[in-house]
Amino acid sequence: MSVSFWQDSGSSNRIQKDIVIIGGGLAGLSTAYWLQQEDPTLEIALVEKYEIGDGASGRNAGFITCGSVEHFNRLVEKHGREEAALIWGFSETNLNLLKEHIIKGSEDELLFEHNGSFSLASTDTEFKELTEASNLMKSFDINVEKVDEEDIKKRLGAEGFVGGIKYIDDATVNPLKMLRMMRTKIEQHEKNHIEFFENHEVSRIETENGNKVVHTKKNRIEAPIVVYATNGYSPLLDDFFKDKIFPTRGQILMTEKVPPFMEAACYANFVLDYFRQLPTGELLIGGFRQLQKDVETGYSDQTTETIQKALEEFLQTHIPPVRPASITHRWSGIMGFSVDGQPMVGALPTDPQLYFVGGFTAHGVGLAFNAGKTLVDAMFDRPVPAWISAKRLA
Ligand SMILES: Cc1cc2nc3c(=O)[nH]c(=O)nc-3n(C[C@H](O)[C@H](O)[C@H](O)COP(=O)(O)OP(=O)(O)OC[C@H]3O[C@@H](n4cnc5c(N)ncnc54)[C@H](O)[C@@H]3O)c2cc1C
Repeated sequence: MSVSFWQDSGSSNRIQKDIVIIGGGLAGLSTAYWLQQEDPTLEIALVEKYEIGDGASGRNAGFITCGSVEHFNRLVEKHGREEAALIWGFSETNLNLLKEHIIKGSEDELLFEHNGSFSLASTDTEFKELTEASNLMKSFDINVEKVDEEDIKKRLGAEGFVGGIKYIDDATVNPLKMLRMMRTKIEQHEKNHIEFFENHEVSRIETENGNKVVHTKKNRIEAPIVVYATNGYSPLLDDFFKDKIFPTRGQILMTEKVPPFMEAACYANFVLDYFRQLPTGELLIGGFRQLQKDVETGYSDQTTETIQKALEEFLQTHIPPVRPASITHRWSGIMGFSVDGQPMVGALPTDPQLYFVGGFTAHGVGLAFNAGKTLVDAMFDRPVPAWISAKRLA
């Protein structure tokens, strides 16, 4: 939202901090969490336009997936064996860190399930590629299992798929509850110096006497360092992101509860579409933005008839156990797709006082906690892997 002169002149309340983090999603809170672990005396403001989790982090499907947004063979083709192993390992570490620091002891409350996930092929061409990916993954000691049409019917209740593979180590969660748990852990730290400013939209950032000045309608918050954890919204705040981070919409629908029938969550159609049954019985299905790529961009989080209809048709065609179930929720959210599909972490090449963590390209639940940790490495001059470093986009 733009801010008028009349509204802006209200922001005279001055606050001084060591670091301002903009964005109350997984990226912002993960960064806050790891900064607190690094140095709990740091005075940090976390500034969120709405409430914590109102962005993509509270609207996603809750897959904690290892790897990347494409089949593993393509990751190897693009990055080579060595870097592909690093990228995969990064997301495995993300899950292990989440389990150890946030989820442990609250698995049931967070609806956390460590049951793996499937990638399903509806054509022989994709199954051939998945088979190639699976063989390659085995050569990297990644835990993977190949399944056929009958397995898919029996174990997932799904029809119309010729085969697939199971990533044994993936997990699922209620992403909003996990984010709120992260906030609780931060606030319960015995030396907490992190202050949350919800319902504070940042309108602009200026430089004054070596400090950054972050303007909201209610406050001006000054700090030597600012972190953008603003996902697909980043180009609205800083032109640097205009050709690097692209706002992209994702849509979901959810059915009423049905008796449990799925062994684990599933991707289909080259990881573009996905469905999972919650431990409480509801079935969630999302994807299909490929049908209207030109429409599924920008900042509106409305649902559209075309995509929602495609989701319903998929459900009727492929998932018999939920055919009679009524639909209870439809929603969408805005993601930040990066120019090369990998996240971007570190100081902006244009300004060493501005940092960024984001560009998760539909994959932030599987990446953001470790990305926040990596950002703290960058801030404390420890090395950051080249494939994820913001420096690569200079
Ligand atoms: C429908 C859908 C399904 C998805 N499914 C999955 C999945 O199953 N697994 C997975 O790994 N990933 C999934 N994702 C992607 C995942 O949700 C994101 O990658 C992740 O949540 C990004 O976290 P973030 O903190 O960078 O962004 P966000 O959660 O969007 O947080 C950014 C925050 O910045 C705030 N903000 C923006 N501008 C300003 C401003 N000017 N002032 C103050 N605050 C501002 C926003 O309000 C927002 O809360 C999905 C996304 C969507 C939309």
